[in-house]
Amino acid sequence: MLIAGGGPVGVVTALALAQRGFAVTVFESGPQINDAPRAATTHPATLDLLAGLGLSDEVIRRGLTARKFQFRDRPSGELIAEFDHGVLGQDTAFPFVVQCEQHKLARLAIDRLRALPETAVHFSARVVAVDAQPGGVGVTVETGDGARTFRGAFLVGADGGRSTVRKCLGIAFEGYTFPERFIVLTTPFDFEAERGYCYRNYFSDPDEWANLFKVAGDDGRGQWRVVFPTRAEESDEDALSDAGVQQRLQRFFPKPAPYEVVHRNLYKVHQRVAATFRKGRVFLAGDAAHVNNPIGGLGLNCGIHDGVELAQRLSRFCGGSGEDELDLYDRRRRPLNVEFVQSQTISNKKRLEEKDPGVRAANFEQLRRTAADSARHREFLLRTSLLESVRKAALIT
Ligand SMILES: Cc1cc2nc3c(=O)[nH]c(=O)nc-3n(C[C@H](O)[C@H](O)[C@H](O)COP(=O)(O)OP(=O)(O)OC[C@H]3O[C@@H](n4cnc5c(N)ncnc54)[C@H](O)[C@@H]3O)c2cc1C
Repeated sequence: MLIAGGGPVGVVTALALAQRGFAVTVFESGPQINDAPRAATTHPATLDLLAGLGLSDEVIRRGLTARKFQFRDRPSGELIAEFDHGVLGQDTAFPFVVQCEQHKLARLAIDRLRALPETAVHFSARVVAVDAQPGGVGVTVETGDGARTFRGAFLVGADGGRSTVRKCLGIAFEGYTFPERFIVLTTPFDFEAERGYCYRNYFSDPDEWANLFKVAGDDGRGQWRVVFPTRAEESDEDALSDAGVQQRLQRFFPKPAPYEVVHRNLYKVHQRVAATFRKGRVFLAGDAAHVNNPIGGLGLNCGIHDGVELAQRLSRFCGGSGEDELDLYDRRRRPLNVEFVQSQTISNKKRLEEKDPGVRAANFEQLRRTAADSARHREFLLRTSLLESVRKAALIT
């Protein structure tokens, strides 16, 4: 098995395959795992899958457990609704979310992978060409020592949103890109002790919505990530400047001293899905197959679900079941991404940025009622935590 991309989806997929006895080679273009602040929220359905790979205990240990999340009206500061994953006690062994940074998950999966026979992870190894034949797949890989060719029975393109594998196969990436970018600012300022916020917070605001999360950080002492949209006309330089960053944070929550900011980053945000997740012996997984805005924390989660599903399908195919087994990967994963991840993240963003006062009030009322009614509260969380999508997947044959 060849895997392009040593991000979290590539290495978790590699581990899932290696645990089923496949020989696996991963090619990662970077010199090491990328530790830029991106995904952290790991939902219950994903923890269930990680448990199957033997990773959940360590993910919980390295992350922060967050049972609750809150919606607030940013202009007034009012708490609109609080959701508690504890109501999912009958639905999952993990009725909570774990805030574990994606580079920690990737490193953990690589450590486990390297302990298994017939596995290899090559860093500074960029896949630049794909030769897909009916009987196997070849890849050309640029390394520090020049270009090399590798051959395998199958290739997984887990090489992120700009996937070379997807482009080599001519698979369209349908959807759109938002005009604004998202800025992520990381600060040690303790929003729990100083302001009483929980670990996951969504702030609706017609002028500038915000998300606020706590992660453990590499030293385990805790850091807070604040996510804002930029204005469409704002330059990257202005948004990332010290003055721009301080202004944004002070507007969000004024305090006398400047914020200490340990990391700042801008991301382009898209809603796109590949036209197919399979072409012959090549599969797309994770961001190579689908990208979405990060509100709700679903992109990586869905990518992990892709990888685990793909390992099951390939294992059954190699065990003697027919070609249809491979098609089932696309039949399950693609519609579920559209129905759950794309639609959920698009509506999450709309809810936070809504400008019409009447619609905002109606949204708030709906959130309050959902949170107050135990059956609706559970249904809401089954959807946002991807448990419902896992149940639906099992029904697609
Ligand atoms: C601000 C932000 C917050 C987010 N928060 C969440 C969250 O809380 N929960 C969640 O589920 N998702 C979240 N996401 C989304 C999540 O980060 C992505 O879905 C996730 O990174 C996808 O993992 P991946 O392995 O598919 O792709 P990537 O992480 O992009 O990894 C792809 C890897 O492939 C490598 N690569 C690229 N091209 C090649 C090549 N040609 N050859 C070899 N290697 C190559 C890259 O170097 C990279 O290491 C967030 C995203 C952002 C921007």
